[in-house]
Amino acid sequence: MSELKLCQGPECHQHQTKDRLKGPKDNKTYQTRRRSGFYYGNNNFCSTWCQAQWFNKFGDRAIDHFGRLTEPKHLTEQNAWQKTYDWNSNDETLYVYRNGITKEERPLTKEQYNDTSYTINTGE
Ligand SMILES: [Zn+2]
Repeated sequence: MSELKLCQGPECHQHQTKDRLKGPKDNKTYQTRRRSGFYYGNNNFCSTWCQAQWFNKFGDRAIDHFGRLTEPKHLTEQNAWQKTYDWNSNDETLYVYRNGITKEERPLTKEQYNDTSYTINTGE
């Protein structure tokens, strides 16, 4: 069995649900949810409630740590490339980069499409 993860919600254990009540018969306590995976917050939270609690408590510090935006970003020809796909008449998947401003399309390989670090954008 794979290792279980803990929900990162700072108040997960304060939500009194049956599935959180754990421990030996005479000493049960409400505990942070533990599962093999979670659906929310990039696999870190058992619910949107726990995700929101985390953000309420740590969100400002996280934004300041990773860099708060102080100026609006601009969509330009240089950063408007988005990966997308379509199907041809033979039902084959065609992967393309489509520029949201110029509408130009450039072919992509499946590997490039799946590689999250591959980009032809030259600005943020
Ligand atoms: Zn939780």
